[in-house]
Amino acid sequence: MFKRILAGVFLLATILPLRAEEPLKPYRVLIVISDQWKDPRSFLVSGGGEFQTLVTMFKSWGIPFDILRLDQTLMDPSHFADFAGKARYGAILWDVPGEVSQADQALVTDAVQKLHISLIAIGDRVRQPGIQRLLGIQFKSEHMNSAHPMVKGESFVLRGVGPDLRQQGPDVISMQREQVEVTDAKVLADAGGAAQVTEKEIDPDTRAIWIGGDPDQMLLYQGMRTALRRSVTEAIGYSLTKSWTKTIILTMDDMGNAQNAWLEHWHYPALSEAQIRHSMVEPLQAHHAILSLNIVPGFVDDAQHKIVPTWRQLFTDGFGTRQDYVSTKKGLDEGVALGVLEIESHGWTHMQPDLDSPPGPWWGSPLMDERAEVGWYREFYDIRRNREIPAAEQKFHMEQSADWIQHEFGQLPLEFSTGGNGISRSPDNNTWRLAAEAGYGYYGGYLGRDLAVEGRADSTADFGGSDDVPLLLPAPPDGHDRGIAHDPEGFAKVFDKYPGYAFTGLDEYIGYQHAAVQLASGA
Ligand SMILES: [Zn+2]
Repeated sequence: MFKRILAGVFLLATILPLRAEEPLKPYRVLIVISDQWKDPRSFLVSGGGEFQTLVTMFKSWGIPFDILRLDQTLMDPSHFADFAGKARYGAILWDVPGEVSQADQALVTDAVQKLHISLIAIGDRVRQPGIQRLLGIQFKSEHMNSAHPMVKGESFVLRGVGPDLRQQGPDVISMQREQVEVTDAKVLADAGGAAQVTEKEIDPDTRAIWIGGDPDQMLLYQGMRTALRRSVTEAIGYSLTKSWTKTIILTMDDMGNAQNAWLEHWHYPALSEAQIRHSMVEPLQAHHAILSLNIVPGFVDDAQHKIVPTWRQLFTDGFGTRQDYVSTKKGLDEGVALGVLEIESHGWTHMQPDLDSPPGPWWGSPLMDERAEVGWYREFYDIRRNREIPAAEQKFHMEQSADWIQHEFGQLPLEFSTGGNGISRSPDNNTWRLAAEAGYGYYGGYLGRDLAVEGRADSTADFGGSDDVPLLLPAPPDGHDRGIAHDPEGFAKVFDKYPGYAFTGLDEYIGYQHAAVQLASGA
């Protein structure tokens, strides 16, 4: 599946170095932290905080990076130099609170001065004297302060970003502000007279940039995130990044699920080919838009007590409603062929793996009895019995979903999402980790072989709707096919509500996150 993700995005661009006389630095950043990665296995990124924000941003920007966690790793010269002794990175992003040994500070100093790897430090992660010397500042103290960082003078890093860097974010009265003495750097922004963004030219192609602020809050502001992204460009000397300004990804859940046939409070007829064409495909075509559908390829067959392909189901349900999933499939096929519908995974069945044991069985139960309990219709956490779904069972359902979608639509889904946000979160059964291992590329956050971000379980995304992350918007009227059944004209209204936006698909966003951009050898 990852091959397809990689093949899904072709980045063709000419990289223009800012300083043409120098060889290009590697297009890769080393993010150095201490103990902010809560997962001792270095896989799941969760719990919020600036570290999760950095990972989310760098993946979304498409800037490749590695992570050096000093709580588990002894710093080694080979963290910075490759086999040939050349720089492995274009820049180091220093996010290390607390003590760092003199020897380790000397290694970073060598990496900057001898290997010409630029340095970017954020917030109060500048308490180490060796780091301060590289940045050309001296840390004195930090205190609560209400002043906003304001741009001073001309610089590439903050050009067009200001004047107030704390725009577009939470409205807070005060936050921690570092007070530093600038010994040998240019001040690019200050807050109430205290320098807050500084840049030092170590040599013609190497920079040391400090972006001050409260690490817990500073990256919640668009101006600060843009300053960080620009700093990476300035530090490496070039960049190829993706911006998601005014970009919306529409998502819709549930086509093919069994709830609409068997769950009393979620009952409606499956959408027909004509309904899909009229309410979805035609408006999408008219606006050059894409809709990403989280669909369910497996269906509970009561007569056989087994899971069967959804899109062959044609029956009258217990409420006397004709359910024609064959017609639904025709509508989906038409939309996929026209390039306006994208098929993603909403699990295999949208149902409990165990439909037999107490308080069941669900199989064959009366309509207004166990069958009316929503807990049976959740696949990756057992809401009916209030317990997690074991890892192997989850993995099987995830792999079945991808396999059956491939058989039914001829393409593998890149995104995974659980039905009804039913998720297992313990380390052993963590649904995000398992989805990453099953080969999916995104579930509310990046999923890959290197790491998985526990993103938002609903259809939105952290920082969605900013320059950095597209807005993942549950498609009106209600983010489900159910909404179309009740309000056939409700979906098309989204285009009037968001004039001037581009409506792209999830696969494109996932492709950028997995692009793994590299500098061509010999450049
Ligand atoms: Zn659902």
